[in-house]
Amino acid sequence: MPPCRLSVNLELLNGICLPRVLGTPHNAAMSAISRLAALLAGSARTVVFTGAGISTESGIPDFRSPGGVWSRMKPIDFDTFMHNEDARREAWQRTFSGTAGWVGAKPNEGHFAVARLVDTGKVGHVITQNVDNLHQDAGVPAHQVIELHGNAGYATCLICGLRHELADLRDPFLEQGTLPACRACGGIVKSATISFGQPMPVEAMRRAEAASRECDLFIVLGSSLLVYPAAALPMVAKSNGGALAIVNRELTDMDSKADVAIHAEIGAVLREIVP
Ligand code: ZN
Repeated sequence: MPPCRLSVNLELLNGICLPRVLGTPHNAAMSAISRLAALLAGSARTVVFTGAGISTESGIPDFRSPGGVWSRMKPIDFDTFMHNEDARREAWQRTFSGTAGWVGAKPNEGHFAVARLVDTGKVGHVITQNVDNLHQDAGVPAHQVIELHGNAGYATCLICGLRHELADLRDPFLEQGTLPACRACGGIVKSATISFGQPMPVEAMRRAEAASRECDLFIVLGSSLLVYPAAALPMVAKSNGGALAIVNRELTDMDSKADVAIHAEIGAVLREIVP
């Protein structure tokens, strides 16, 4: 029997979650949330996949959206960073000036709901496209967060991989103009994010694919699922028998393949289903 598919829209008005009726019964919104709650209750191994949408609710701009970071400044791709000292200087200037918008951001209701799901053992892995560390800040143990695009909260040596704390690099750069270099091998040090043109992290990808293959429920929170590997992992879950749920403000190309798709604020939806 094909899965029951429900797709509804919700809008947040004055903090109240209201159904937006688009040819769907008024109670369809809550039906979809109930459907997601039932999928979650019946799941033994849920994977949560998060994109920029969960962090925009913490005030972090979506990099790719109109008005986002990349519409205001050109991204520095990996090759340019590696081969051009001025570009490295510009990249570090951006890091330490907080231009990208995540400095000081705090986890929101959605992050805390995900952390509670991890704490109960329902969710074993959180796969994220975000680099803001907000899942860990909400209480998810770091080893259960699979970061596909790295983490902006520290830096690594591109030669030996040694971790460097931003606090140790900041003053020498801002006060003496010293470009960060590895204290162990002298190699180029870069923010631990994955830049445009930089290879995807092999180990994180392997873990993300394994978790997607083994889960019985894959919940997407705040991703338009357009960019690889975000576009592929939900299908890895589906083709191995997992159910697919999507919570995103806008429609996604995968809504038609989902067992339930809800277009709403993530915090408002999870408030209804995560105690
Ligand atoms: Zn090194």
